[in-house]
Amino acid sequence: MTFSKKAQRIMFALWLLFVPLGTLLVYLYSPTGPSDWKGYAAFLVLALLSSVFPFFIAGTTFVLVIWVQIAIFLKYGILAELISMQICMIPLIYHLKISRDTLYKYFFNSFMFFSLSVLCGTLVLSLGYEIGNVNIRDVIVYGSIFAISYLSINHLFLYTREYLCDWKPLFFTKDLYWEFACLFITLPFGLSLYLFENKVGSIALWLLALPLLAISLLIRMYSDSEKVNADLNKASEFGHQLADRMTSTEILDMFLKKISDIFPFDAGYIVDNINSIDKFFVLRAIEDGENKKKESLHDDIQSSLAGKGYEKGEPILYNKQTEWAHIKPPFLADDMQSVMCVPIYRNQRIEGVLVLAAREKFAFESYQLKIVHLLCSYFAVSLEKARYVKDAVEKSEICELTKIYNYRYLDKQLKLDMLRLKNGSLHTVSLIMIDIDKFKDVNDTYGHHSGNIILQEFAKIIKEEIGTSGTVGRYGGEEFVILLPNYSKLQAMNIAEQLRRKIEQTPFMVPLDLGDITREEIIFITASIGVSTAPEDSDEGMSLLRNADRALYIGAKQAGRNRVAEYVK
Ligand code: GH3
Ligand code: MG
Ligand code: MG
Repeated sequence: MTFSKKAQRIMFALWLLFVPLGTLLVYLYSPTGPSDWKGYAAFLVLALLSSVFPFFIAGTTFVLVIWVQIAIFLKYGILAELISMQICMIPLIYHLKISRDTLYKYFFNSFMFFSLSVLCGTLVLSLGYEIGNVNIRDVIVYGSIFAISYLSINHLFLYTREYLCDWKPLFFTKDLYWEFACLFITLPFGLSLYLFENKVGSIALWLLALPLLAISLLIRMYSDSEKVNADLNKASEFGHQLADRMTSTEILDMFLKKISDIFPFDAGYIVDNINSIDKFFVLRAIEDGENKKKESLHDDIQSSLAGKGYEKGEPILYNKQTEWAHIKPPFLADDMQSVMCVPIYRNQRIEGVLVLAAREKFAFESYQLKIVHLLCSYFAVSLEKARYVKDAVEKSEICELTKIYNYRYLDKQLKLDMLRLKNGSLHTVSLIMIDIDKFKDVNDTYGHHSGNIILQEFAKIIKEEIGTSGTVGRYGGEEFVILLPNYSKLQAMNIAEQLRRKIEQTPFMVPLDLGDITREEIIFITASIGVSTAPEDSDEGMSLLRNADRALYIGAKQAGRNRVAEYVK
């Protein structure tokens, strides 16, 4: 999340107004400063050392520096603590991955820590603490007040910032509990450091620093592994969700969006290679959470890091722009820094590459690269499954013999058309039902095989006649159905009559099996046709079918066959 330019300027102005001037005022009005510079320098080194070992819990960076700050304040006062804290901010620039664009973060933190030092120091002094006091009871009471007020005001600061930015923050966050949990370590260590240093000198700093730094390192290792675990959990859940998607579009839509929930990135691209014939193009692109269209030339992509990643077949991580500037992909924005490029494998072949980019340097970690690699496999497998499902569905809706739609598809399409009629996107739906006349006789005379050939030819003829005006399907046996959306009954009757004539005039070639010799014979067939139209005859799919069937049998078959009849109520 970033701040507006105006908010950034306000932050800088606040910093300029308060920090340098404020430090001068503290120097003038609270002149208690370090008397032994060597001792203070040792404290400063220790504070810096503590701040270069941060650890991360629940997405937040924690730095265990307060223990040294407590001791510095108790020994040297506000000014010494204030300066030490500002110096410890320097490693923070690195930890917060601050760049020129995010420099405001530094000013915000610097301003916040300055205020904390002044507020907490003033509070403790005004309650009666005297700098350098070594009375155990006083040290415990005032040291605790200093540390607790420091954390509380710090939290208030962060809460207010988020509140003002309209992020709707929670007050009692996990971070707050962690901060106070850490106080159980930092406070006793800080108080001991102060008392011990007072007794034995600077050596106390190292005697206490070693175990504490070791503890902070251990916590860091623990929190790192917790983070990996949490990301792995999210990744596996994502894998299941991907597998549940049935269509390629759903999978493509979901993939980049979901990865961004696990690892925030600013831009993501799926680069595909059409049928692995070295023709790269950007299949999906998402920039700052929005889908984008990217028209990039194949050659430009091939010579970029995307092409290199494809060739190499292994995931590659770039931490800053200078590492990839010479192989910049044409689709990638100029202000990106960190880039990960992960091949998408399917059946041991690379199908494409995934490119994720972030404006921050060092935004991605190597373990994340591995998880994304894993997700890319889920992605490729899910896409393949979607293709199989699509093929299977298509197959299940096609008649094997005639290669036109079957009853299952007709039924689905009829329901869909009736729905469109109901919601007003269609005015009418006409249905034509065709039944070949005396087809049993054809089978009996020329054989079942010849009957099949006629059915195939018959389907081809009606399909050609109807074209894209409607849906043609085999309803069963020698019966066919045509759905004509937005066709009036009169129009449908005309089409039906046209078809009837076409069938009547078409010569069908059938093989004639006469023992050793096979030859072809020409035969002619006729068909009877029934027509019904919604909404005038019915507003429900099944009864529309029944109506056409009735028209066919009563109006056409019973009236002598080879004719077209409309449904009459
Ligand atoms: P009508 O004019 O009354 O419709 O007479 P018909 O003989 O066409 O009607 P009937 O319903 O008695 O017979 C339909 C015939 O269609 C019976 C069956 O042998 C034939 N048939 C149905 N499906 C197929 C098929 O897939 N292949 C072949 N060759 N014949 C089929
Ligand atoms: Mg029949
Ligand atoms: Mg028939």
